[in-house]
Amino acid sequence: MNSENKIMNYILYSEAEHNVLPLCSLCHNGCVFCSHKNVGRQDYLYGFYDYKRELSEIIEHIEFLDPSKKVFIGESATKIFEGEPFLFKGLLEVLTALRKRVKKAAISITTSGGFITDEFFEAASSLAPLEINFSLNSFDEKVRDKIVLDKKTGRVFANFERLCAMGDFLKLNVSLMAINEKTTPVESLIEDIRKLRRFSKVSVIKVFLPRFAENQFLNFFADYGAFREYCETVKSSFADVNGAGGAPVILEPLEPDSGGGEILVHSVIAGSRAAAVHIKPGDRIKAVNGTAPFSKTHAYKLITASKKRVSVTVEPAAGGNAQNIIFPEYNSEKDGACGIVFTADMAPEAIVKLTAAGKALAGEGAKGIIATTPLSLEYIRGVLERFEIPALEAVAFKNYRFGGNIDCVGLLTLKDARANLEADLPESFREKKPAALIMSSLMFDHLDYDLNGESLRDFISETEYRVIIV
Ligand code: SF4
Repeated sequence: MNSENKIMNYILYSEAEHNVLPLCSLCHNGCVFCSHKNVGRQDYLYGFYDYKRELSEIIEHIEFLDPSKKVFIGESATKIFEGEPFLFKGLLEVLTALRKRVKKAAISITTSGGFITDEFFEAASSLAPLEINFSLNSFDEKVRDKIVLDKKTGRVFANFERLCAMGDFLKLNVSLMAINEKTTPVESLIEDIRKLRRFSKVSVIKVFLPRFAENQFLNFFADYGAFREYCETVKSSFADVNGAGGAPVILEPLEPDSGGGEILVHSVIAGSRAAAVHIKPGDRIKAVNGTAPFSKTHAYKLITASKKRVSVTVEPAAGGNAQNIIFPEYNSEKDGACGIVFTADMAPEAIVKLTAAGKALAGEGAKGIIATTPLSLEYIRGVLERFEIPALEAVAFKNYRFGGNIDCVGLLTLKDARANLEADLPESFREKKPAALIMSSLMFDHLDYDLNGESLRDFISETEYRVIIV
């Protein structure tokens, strides 16, 4: 496949499978924490960061989207890098054509906020319903000036307030960056959240904890311990952040909480259907439509797959019996999870596959290892315990591809797997000689290539391990 065909293959996959419409890779390139700057021209990923599309071709591709579902712009679903949508000159034409085909579902746009045009503000109500994911990074002028070198802080804040003043046709989510103690001390993050909560338009506030590749990491932290310490400080200072109401705050990426088990409500969107029936952070979801969920991700999926009516069995954090709460006239496009916010954890399909793999290995008297990262090690151990899978053991693989504190399992490569299996596997594992290697499907794209462009099929044909992908 030549490079142009390769990019088009991923674009088509984004459109047809994820309802994501890629526009352009242009961006202001001003964020000091941006990971894309590390990708050199020789890197396999570079081509995915440097593509161009014609307006007419994008408009033709609107046909490939599912008009009954939310459409995403500026959000990456594959290796294709989504730039700043408002830097794409034909954006309004795209949105207008999109709204003609997608009659009712929301159009979701992720933006850094500094390039939103007057024309967009004027046309916004005719493009409704809209959802804007606003990467504000900081709501403190001095801090933002330090972490985003685009000289647009004033314009970004003005655009944010302009969006806040728009009608119900527009939903607004905001994200902030937690960089390190010096740049974004906890107090400044808490103050940003306090200021943001004054705007009732803000539905959810995401706070991203820092993740830096090798050549950036030491600019921000002395070592991994200092990074962990900062995360712990932020995490503990945020312990009650959702208790007193206001837009829910979600801290990411964090290890999934609660030992791989309980289905806890993280927070509840103010004014939502869940808030109206007094569902609270910390409540336990025991069942959705009579089914006990395997994970929080499963609970979310069960709710949003419901037709017309959802029944959620909730055990209050404050004590007392579980109650069956019914949400009548449910519409997944409009209601989502009814305002219940869950943190991400393992997909139910992955848990089912893990359980099956564990059973098969146990039947043969064999053992397997599941490749994870330091971030998720305890959570995966909790899953193996809760679902009684003793034939599998979790091992935290080091990420050599990106280095630094890049800890997500989806960013591991086959080269990383080889290096960890050959050099880093603890002696105790070597002695037991595990028969199977379990890896996450998140490491591979729809063509089964990893982030180095290495084929999973080739890896399977050469390794001594039985490879199971979950
Ligand atoms: S907006 Fe995103 S892509 Fe652009 S510089 Fe910032 S982090 Fe990088």
